[in-house]
Formats: sequence, structure tokens, C-alpha cells
Amino acid sequence: MDNCIFCKILKNEIPSSTVYEDDKFRAIMDIGPIAKGHVILLAKEHAANLLEADDELLAAALPAVKKVAKAVKKTLGCDGINVLQNNGEEAGQTVFHFHLHLIPRYADDNQEILWNPTSPSAEELAQIRELLS
Ligand code: 5GP
Ligand code: ZN
Repeated sequence: MDNCIFCKILKNEIPSSTVYEDDKFRAIMDIGPIAKGHVILLAKEHAANLLEADDELLAAALPAVKKVAKAVKKTLGCDGINVLQNNGEEAGQTVFHFHLHLIPRYADDNQEILWNPTSPSAEELAQIRELLS
């Protein structure tokens, strides 16, 4: 993918700080971290997002996330970690190459990952369940 920034990073055409690498993934420091140690795990194979990614790749993703998360936790001593993954512009995706965010959390980090819960009626929930099932 000629115009994909993560493909360029993976080809070492753009510099990055690698913290982990295996045959399917490379974890690098996010250039705009929202917390100390914010890492993004890039699939080596280009797919726009999770919905487009190969199942075998996806099966390897969470074990890689776990490995990196444990290393981050041990090294930085964070209190928790958010694992986030955006699909589509409306979902906050800005780079259309499958990746996952590992965001270390600290008790005093003043960081917020927000969503606003709504209160649908039981009927509305039932209707949606009906559509999805
Ligand atoms: P998304 O919003 O697509 O889920 O996340 C894209 C992430 O990639 C953002 O957190 C952004 O800071 C990061 N990013 C964008 N360009 C670069 C880059 O050139 N190098 C690195 N290391 N991170 C990048
Ligand atoms: Zn790409």
C-alpha cells in the first residue's frame, strides 16, 4: 500500500521506535501518546481494519497484545492497560492499517477514555437483539 504510513514504517521508510516484533506484528511507540508508554501494535500485513483482516492474523493478535502488555506493565509499573482498536473514521480511526492501541493507565494520569452511556428501553434493546440474532 503505497500511501499507507504504517506500511512505510514497516518497510523502515519512516523511522519509528520498535518495542516488540514477531513474524506478524511490530509494536512501536505511538507518536502522539495519550499516556506514558502508549504503544501501537501494527499488523505486518496490510488490512484496513479488523473487519478486513485475515483470521489467522487476528488469532495471533491477542497473544501478541498480551506479551507486549505484560512487558509494558512490568517495565513501567502502570496500574492498568486499555487495549483499544478503532474501525472506521466515525469510530476514531485515523490510520487505515489494522493496529491495536495499548494504553498504560496510572492512578493519577488524569486521562479519560470517554463514552456516554444511554438508557434504551427494554423494548428497544429487544428490537436490536432481534435484528442482530
Ligand atoms: P487510530 O486513530 O487510527 O486508531 O490510531 C492511529 C495512531 O497512530 C494515533 O494514535 C497516532 O498518534 C499514531 N500515528 C500516526 N502517525 C504515526 C507515525 O508516523 N508514527 C507513529 N509512531 N505513530 C503514528
Ligand atoms: Zn498499510
